[in-house]
Amino acid sequence: MQTNLRIDSRFPQMGTTIFTVMSRLAAECGAVNLSQGFPDFQAEPALFDAMHRHMLAGRNQYAPMAGLPELRQAIADKVAALYGPRYDIETEVTVTAGATQAIFTAIAAFVRPGDEVIVFEPVYDSYVPAIETVGGKAVYAQLKFPDYQPDWEQVAGLISPRTRMIIVNSPHNPTGSVNATVSLKKLANLLRGTDIVILSDEVYEHILFDGEQHASLCGDPELAERSIVVSSFGKTYHITGWKIGYVVAPAALMAEFRKVHQFNVFCVHAPAQLAIAEYMQDARRHLGLAVFYQQKRDFFRDLLAATPFELLPCRGTYFQLARYDRISDRPDREFAEWLTREVGVAVIPISVFYADGRDDRVVRFCFAKQEATLRAAAERLCRAL
Ligand code: PMP
Ligand code: GLN
Repeated sequence: MQTNLRIDSRFPQMGTTIFTVMSRLAAECGAVNLSQGFPDFQAEPALFDAMHRHMLAGRNQYAPMAGLPELRQAIADKVAALYGPRYDIETEVTVTAGATQAIFTAIAAFVRPGDEVIVFEPVYDSYVPAIETVGGKAVYAQLKFPDYQPDWEQVAGLISPRTRMIIVNSPHNPTGSVNATVSLKKLANLLRGTDIVILSDEVYEHILFDGEQHASLCGDPELAERSIVVSSFGKTYHITGWKIGYVVAPAALMAEFRKVHQFNVFCVHAPAQLAIAEYMQDARRHLGLAVFYQQKRDFFRDLLAATPFELLPCRGTYFQLARYDRISDRPDREFAEWLTREVGVAVIPISVFYADGRDDRVVRFCFAKQEATLRAAAERLCRAL
C-alpha cells in the first residue's frame, strides 16, 4: 500500500536486529541455525499440562498489573533461597512480557532526555535503541577481547553528573563471560555516594559452568539497594516464545517501574503465569540447568575442536564464541553470511554489538540445541573447512 506521508524517521540509520536477519537467512538457505539464541528442543510436558489446566479452569482474564500473586511469590521465594534478600511481592516484584520489555520499561522509567547510560560493549542489541528512544545517550565501556572483563577504572572515567544508569549483564550475551563477586565490589565502590541506578540483566542466571556461582546484584545489599534486576523464564524453562520474565527492585524503584509498565503492557498472559508458578516449585528445574547446558557446551566444543575455529572460553550462557582468522580474512558479517550460505551453518557476527563496528573476527554459536543438530552443524563445518 502506498502512502504520501513524509516520514521523519526516528531512527533513520537503524536496520533490522541481527537475530531476525540471521534466522531468516538460515531458513532461506536451509542452514543449521546456530545464530539466534533459542532451544530446538521441547520443555517438559508438565509445563504445558499446567497451562492447559489453568485455561480450562477459566483463568483466562486479565492478571493483576504486577503479575499473579502465585508467580510473584514463587519468584520472591527463589530469589531469597538463592541470593538472600526477601523482596516484598506487593511492592518489589513485577512480572513482565519477557526481559526485553522489562529492560525497555526500566529505561523509560528512569532515563530522561540528555541522561547518560553506561553500557558495556559488546552490548546486547536492545539496550541502546531503548536508551535512544527516550532521548538518553549511551556511553560505552569496553569488555576487552579476548577475556571480556570490565575495566572498572575505565568505567570510573565515564561517570559524569549526567550518568543516570549503568547496565550490567552477567552471564554475558554474546561473550559467555561472567562477572565475579569481586567485580561487584568494585562496582559498589564506584557508585557509592551517587544516585546512579543499576539495571542488571540476569537472564542467564542459572547457566554458569564449572561450578561457578552467579553473582546476582540481589546478593550484595549495597548494590541491591540501587538495582533493578531482570530475569526471563524463556531461558530458564526453554520457552523463549512465551515471552515472560520478571523484575525485582526496592519498592521506591519498583514504584517508578510500574508507572510505565501499567501503560506499556498492563499485564502478562495469565495462564502462563500460573503454569510457571507451579513449575517453579521444583527447584531442580532451574538448579539443574547449569549441568544440562555444560554437557551441551562440552559436547559442542569437542566437535568444534576438529575444525580450524579457535574457541574462546565459555563460562556461562548458551553461546560459544570462536575466532575464525585461520579460515578467512573476511569481515565478520561477511563471514557469517558466507558460512550460512556456502557451508550451511548460521552464526552471529560480534561486530554488530559495537557502536563503531569493531571487528575482532569472532562469531557466536548457540549450543542450546539437540545433539543431533550440533552434530549436523559440525559435520558441515568439518567437511567444508
Ligand atoms: N537480555 C539478554 C542478555 C538476552 O540474551 C535476551 C534474550 N535472549 C534478553 C535480554 C531478552 O529476553 P526475553 O526473550 O525474555 O525478552
Ligand atoms: N537473545 C537472543 C539471542 O541473543 C535473541 C533474542 C531475539 O531474537 N531478540 O540470540
